[in-house]
Amino acid sequence: MEKRYFQKEIETMPVEEIKKLQSEKLVKQVKHVYENVPYYRNLMDEKGVKPEDIKGIEDLHKLPFLTKSDLRDAYPYGLLGKPLSDCVRIHSTSGTTGKRVVAFYTQHDIDLWDDCCARAIVAADGSKDDVCQVAYGYGLFTGGFGLNGGSQKVGCLTLPMSSGNTERQVQFMMDLNATILCCTPSYAAYIGEYLKEQGYTPDRIPLKAGIFGAEPWTEEMRRGIEATLGIKAYDIYGLTESTGPGVAFECEEQTGMHINEDHFLAEIIDPDTGEVLPEGSKGELVFTSLDKEAFPLLRYRTRDICVLSRKECSCGRTFIKMAKPMGRSDDMMIIRGVNVFPSQIETVLLKEGYQPNYQIVVDRKNNNDTFDINVEMNPEQFTDTVSGVTAMEKALAGAMKTMLGINPAIHLVPPKSITRSEGKAVRVIDKRKLHD
Ligand code: ADP
Ligand code: ZN
Repeated sequence: MEKRYFQKEIETMPVEEIKKLQSEKLVKQVKHVYENVPYYRNLMDEKGVKPEDIKGIEDLHKLPFLTKSDLRDAYPYGLLGKPLSDCVRIHSTSGTTGKRVVAFYTQHDIDLWDDCCARAIVAADGSKDDVCQVAYGYGLFTGGFGLNGGSQKVGCLTLPMSSGNTERQVQFMMDLNATILCCTPSYAAYIGEYLKEQGYTPDRIPLKAGIFGAEPWTEEMRRGIEATLGIKAYDIYGLTESTGPGVAFECEEQTGMHINEDHFLAEIIDPDTGEVLPEGSKGELVFTSLDKEAFPLLRYRTRDICVLSRKECSCGRTFIKMAKPMGRSDDMMIIRGVNVFPSQIETVLLKEGYQPNYQIVVDRKNNNDTFDINVEMNPEQFTDTVSGVTAMEKALAGAMKTMLGINPAIHLVPPKSITRSEGKAVRVIDKRKLHD
């Protein structure tokens, strides 16, 4: 089958040419930022770096980093690179980690963002013959508008459902024969669960593909969603600070997401020292937006932990790939001195035959951390005998101990008793933060 791309000449450009293009764009962008963003100019001046010192991507490391706290300091207009009268849109982060950030877009920025999402949709086999149901939230959150823009660029018939109202989602999906579903993986799992309950087997669901992102999800969760909906599920990554979804997207190989390198320059650094790490190392992802005008962040520290790889991809795209980020440095919990990521817990649950419906509760009692995980039983596991439940809890706690090195208290709860998410799932309740 002939391979399809949205912008073939860019997506399959030889690596050396991509790097050359990035160098040219970087030099221009640094000049633009230095001249128009006093906040960043000050950071550069403090570091003693001038725009002339940046001659190409090999000089990137000379530039100062930007962090989420810079974004908060500069709120709302301090990082604007264009007059407000040239901006056409504002979005805001979902505030997963508590602090909202606003980002601005010119029409040029929206266009390049739409292109990025369009590439993702074509990589998921989308074309003008598809009906694309966008069930990410529309509004300040970037998910809805981002995929909507991409879908229209591809020429799909776009169904702007936004998130929520699952009954109506399913009705439209069936009546209008939606072939591509875009939403968070936790909402996709929820829709799948709902369809199953309504008696829909995968062969009766018109969907062929899903484009799911905006939150971490495991490989096991992917396989589960694929089986319930009868689709191929593609990961998509992005953050409001550098447009929104579509900064990176998955192809049919499903082995990581291609970063749209003509617009975003990626680095991996040691989160503690800030040192740039060689390709293949695990560390914090840092992005420089190469041609965004209104909110042109240079060396923005995402706090997402992942690995980059230039390994040749069978899809023909030459863009570097990022592994699924399995959580942010600030998602990591330190419980009794041990580092724990929610994604590790999810992996164990799915391996042990549970659904990804769980909530982690961490607290501190008598100077000791308490660590509880509420896990929903599947309807077929649901047993009323106390001894049966206790045995299952014990088995699961043992599997968690093997993965994490510490023992959580597992509480199996009845099916459907944990609130479902229509956007990003809330997996952790850390009550220790309330006491500190
Ligand atoms: P917030 O920081 O408030 O969640 P955003 O909505 O902009 O704001 O979310 C961006 C973050 O979402 C990313 O930095 C990353 O941590 C997470 N994310 C987005 N897409 C993915 C994905 N495909 N896999 C894992 N994490 C993702
Ligand atoms: Zn590929």
